[in-house]
Amino acid sequence: MATDTYTEFVNSGLGRKITKSLGLPQPAKLRRYRPEAPLIEGPVVVVGASEVADNIAARLLTWDLDVRRHIGPKEKVAAVVAVFDTAATPADLSRNVLELGGMLKQLKPSGRVITVFRDPESTDDPTARAARKGAEGMTRSLAHEMRAGATANGIVLHEQLDATAPGVAGALRYLLSGRSAFVSGQFVSVNSVNGQLPHDWAAPLQDQVAVVTGAARGIGASIAKVLRRDGAQVILVDVPAAGEALAAAANEVEGTALQLDITRDDAAERILDHAQQHYGRLDIVVHNAGITRDKLLANMDAPRWDSVIAVNIESQLRMNRTLLGSELFSRVENGVGPRIVSLASTSGIAGNRGQTNYAASKSAVMGMVSAGSAQLEARHGTINAVAPGFIETEMTAKMPLGTREVARRLNSLSQGGLPVDVAETVAFLASPSAAGTSGLTLRVCGQNLVGA
Ligand code: NAD
Repeated sequence: MATDTYTEFVNSGLGRKITKSLGLPQPAKLRRYRPEAPLIEGPVVVVGASEVADNIAARLLTWDLDVRRHIGPKEKVAAVVAVFDTAATPADLSRNVLELGGMLKQLKPSGRVITVFRDPESTDDPTARAARKGAEGMTRSLAHEMRAGATANGIVLHEQLDATAPGVAGALRYLLSGRSAFVSGQFVSVNSVNGQLPHDWAAPLQDQVAVVTGAARGIGASIAKVLRRDGAQVILVDVPAAGEALAAAANEVEGTALQLDITRDDAAERILDHAQQHYGRLDIVVHNAGITRDKLLANMDAPRWDSVIAVNIESQLRMNRTLLGSELFSRVENGVGPRIVSLASTSGIAGNRGQTNYAASKSAVMGMVSAGSAQLEARHGTINAVAPGFIETEMTAKMPLGTREVARRLNSLSQGGLPVDVAETVAFLASPSAAGTSGLTLRVCGQNLVGA
């Protein structure tokens, strides 16, 4: 993994002085999740007068946070939750937006702004949808204005759903915590009352069994570690050629290794057999294995195109059919069924020169999860995707220095993400507290300028 020496330099005393005076980007050291650390340190202000705002404030109080409805002009603020659910027209946004704006200079480093509004798509009334889309656009732009590692994201509440739904608590907690360190300008939609809050927020995946493909290295190995830290038992899958690294990664998380090429016709059966034999259950599937074979389309050949499609999407579609037809992957516990999380990419959103094959496969993943949610809902389960932007991995370390530097800085946090940032979001979407969210692609990209 390449070191981001610029970020290190900026965060030294002299470095900050020099780069500030030159007007250069100021990447901050991000607040990342540690189970033993407080959820967030300092006052959390809830802006807005509605039942949803009251319910959110009540929920935050149960987490022993310093919850306020107003704040003095000199006090520091850790987070602002601005609730817009009653905005019926765009003009209604003004009051809460300006109140939120008035607090931004008091926001602590790595602070959080979370907006909450009703799902624009769930109304056909042009004025109401305009108001909701207005809240969305405001949040996105505000995210570009945040400083010192602070972020702005939104929670999109489905019509009729009230804020006591477990999914709202799960999303609030994820967005307030360091789990979402590299997530900004994004929206977590909560579509249903499904979900179960953990007894222990430090072990939200206790007793769950997860399989992670492509887990021998990179983002997959990090996902296995985070799922394990959150309490899950993990099956790590990778190709036989990566056997040694796979065994080491599995040992590290006290998991089991399964050498398997996921493009095999019987890949899902092999996973089900392994899970049955070792654990007797399977709750979470993370489709992480992926490959790139970049070439301009004018120079593309069949092996490059076909292998990317085969590994990155066809294998997942085939495996899901078998997994969802099995009894082992159908268990419903406390109202929560199987969960699938798939790795997409911002390339699949914005496109990327030289990556027609890869972008096709990653857009296809997003199509699969948005259409698959109905199928999973019937089983009380969920299917979601995570789209990483520039992440510091072996893959991105191979990029030419100039391209890498530009890719790193072209986002609202002016730095690359770490594999753990992707892993935290995968773990959140795999958790029972996120069971009200399905069909979503959540970007972990620091609000990358491409793919907005
Ligand atoms: P990586 O190349 O470091 O790791 C991928 C792993 O998948 C490898 O261990 C590889 O052996 C395994 N794999 C490949 N084909 C397989 C197959 N047929 N069967 C089983 N295992 C197989 O990649 P990474 O950077 O850790 O990326 C992980 C995922 O995240 C991929 O889906 C990638 O497309 C996606 N992603 C990564 C980035 C990034 O910046 N690194 C950005 C966006 C998306």
